[in-house]
Amino acid sequence: MKQWQNYINGNWQNSICNETFEEKNPADLTEVIGEFASSKKEDVEIAITAANTAFGSWSKMSALERADYLKQVLDWLKKEKMTFSEIITMENGKTLKESLSEIDSAIYEMEFQIHQGCRLYGTTLQTNKKLAMAMSMKVPLGVVAIITPWNFPLNVACRKMIPALMAGNTAILKPASLTSLTAVKFIELFDKVHIPKGVVNLVMGNGSLIGDVLTNSTKINGLSFTGSTEVGLIIQKNAAKNLMPTQLELGGKNPAVVLKDADLDEASSAIVLGAFACSGQWCTSTSRVIVEKEVAKDLVEMLKSKTQKIKIGNGSHPETGMGPVCGIKQLETISNYITIGKKEGATLCCGGDQLTEGDYKKGCFVKPTIFSEVTEKMRIATEEIFGPVLSIIIVNNFDEALSVANNVKYGLSSSIFTKDFSKAMRFIQETKVGLTHVNMPSAYKEPALPFGGVKMSGAGLPEAGTVGIDFFTKHKVAYLQY
Ligand code: NAP
Ligand code: MG
Repeated sequence: MKQWQNYINGNWQNSICNETFEEKNPADLTEVIGEFASSKKEDVEIAITAANTAFGSWSKMSALERADYLKQVLDWLKKEKMTFSEIITMENGKTLKESLSEIDSAIYEMEFQIHQGCRLYGTTLQTNKKLAMAMSMKVPLGVVAIITPWNFPLNVACRKMIPALMAGNTAILKPASLTSLTAVKFIELFDKVHIPKGVVNLVMGNGSLIGDVLTNSTKINGLSFTGSTEVGLIIQKNAAKNLMPTQLELGGKNPAVVLKDADLDEASSAIVLGAFACSGQWCTSTSRVIVEKEVAKDLVEMLKSKTQKIKIGNGSHPETGMGPVCGIKQLETISNYITIGKKEGATLCCGGDQLTEGDYKKGCFVKPTIFSEVTEKMRIATEEIFGPVLSIIIVNNFDEALSVANNVKYGLSSSIFTKDFSKAMRFIQETKVGLTHVNMPSAYKEPALPFGGVKMSGAGLPEAGTVGIDFFTKHKVAYLQY
């Protein structure tokens, strides 16, 4: 059995207690992917010390020198695209096409953030004193901890690590346990280009154990997290004790509003993509459709017919349209919500069960599921399921649609489908989310623009775009008399 180690202070090493955990392929749970270092408090503390020691010289390097290392990492990633896509599919379950698209987007974000990191502009000012001037500079935080989820194991790590390092910080990455191999392979690229020891560290294993050490440490100067709202709240509370700055990208319950004038064919295709790509496991996946009553019946028929055509299977098979969900725990959570939906009295339009025949029984397969006649307050309409389950809510008019769309605790992404310019503009202004879309799937995003949610979907500065580096810096002001 292949064993994968932590990367601390430039060395690949077992955890201090030599313990490991296993990772399995969600398309075939009989296939063990490997054994990974199961870190303890001491491992994390050694990584924190290494990152603190490395900070001095890394932060003093020029941005161009740092960019030079990261461009080489990027070149390796481009060369190893196929290997990465196979690993992501094997660990996460998504189709090879989806894995490749994740890597393309990671490459684009890396390129963007490397360039952005070479333009850390400050300001200069003529002061109120004679023969004096003042300037403000953006300086690194110090050592940052980066905690990532399993749904975009490469992309989220890139989106955080690259701006953090470009700004002059050193980093400790704690990846989701279910997708540790992608993280190992990503960190191998930094090792290949001989990044100075301690600048990048990887600690794998139990999230709450490692998370507790990181968030309670006075030697960590910032923490960027993507994952569930539940864990985000724990992190925020721990970090507050030492006033550690946090960036939290959390869950969603993203609506797609369909008005009666919409092109239903286009809207239904965008919704099926938004709801079932990556088996519905995007933080920005569409999970609620809010439709005007006049077109509800036609829309439901179209959604149902397009959904039933999705071919479910092992993500590594080229004909697969939707892979398994990521692990037994996910499968159980999703199945449990389907049962809740049935009990709550929603109408099951399609899907509704696991696939358990033949090869399917080895993996975590669930049919893409649509419930109609869902009401605003049902649990399937308000709680994040994070799987291929779509709830359809019928409303009387645009105002009611807007109110239902906003009436959840989350605020990550939304979509509206309409040809009415005024209503689209009103939606853009009044939808309570971090990103919204007109006639496009709720999951669409571009690397050059900021990304982040409101309400219980996130806190702290956004990621990505020209502001993506801001979280990883603070302002320092200097006054000069001459
Ligand atoms: P999760 O359970 O919150 O885990 C995320 C990460 O936190 C993992 O690395 C996990 O490690 C670690 N962790 C677990 N408990 C912790 C603790 N007490 N302290 C610190 N870290 C801890 O989320 P997930 O199940 O991996 O991912 C799905 C969630 O992520 C969904 O809610 C989804 O909406 C959200 N998400 C949001 C965005 C966004 O940008 N807004 C993007 C993608 C996903 P282990 O794996 O070892 O438990
Ligand atoms: Mg989880």
